[in-house]
Amino acid sequence: MLIRSVSFFIIFIFSFLYLNSQDLETLINRIDIATLINNICILSYEKEVIINNNTERIDSRKFDSEKKHLAALWLKSKLVEYGYQAQIIETAKNEETVLARKIGANKNNLVIMVAHYDSFNFDPEPAPGPNDNASGCSAVLEIARILRDVKLNFSLEFIFWDGEETRMASSKYYVENLVNSPIFFVEYINLDMLAWDSNNDRKVRIKYKD
Ligand SMILES: [Zn+2]
Repeated sequence: MLIRSVSFFIIFIFSFLYLNSQDLETLINRIDIATLINNICILSYEKEVIINNNTERIDSRKFDSEKKHLAALWLKSKLVEYGYQAQIIETAKNEETVLARKIGANKNNLVIMVAHYDSFNFDPEPAPGPNDNASGCSAVLEIARILRDVKLNFSLEFIFWDGEETRMASSKYYVENLVNSPIFFVEYINLDMLAWDSNNDRKVRIKYKD
């Protein structure tokens, strides 16, 4: 399911690029299902990971937990590992946005690909959220990895939002700080719950509007 979704979004992005089918096939063949699943396991506290030279486990990404800071650090470290200049922006109390921008030929034309990394749980327990939304975060990371050395005719920003489960303060902060910038938004692509397949039909549903 996840690999289908990532394939679709790569095709979607490349509909802007007018690449030939051979190029597209090459990129889709780079999708690594083991990496996609490993990312989800790390974000959902199933696997330990090294963060800033310490062995850590991302115990919870619950919206009100300070432990989700570890997830932000790890997401940033992956973007850096893939060759991007990534940053963490504190947008509200206990809320951080992780982002990296890949500059394209028309640098002020911006496509944003996002996933929220905070999670939700009605119980007082941690919220591992493998589907909502470690799956979307994993896909954004994998697309960032695959597109690292691909020349684009627009800029592409990879963003991991915090606060989606509460007041969406992180995304509001982002928009408010872009109001006076020269950026022209081409597309906003939000990857959320990509591993959800309620009726097991193995189909991907895309919500969009013109
Ligand atoms: Zn979600």
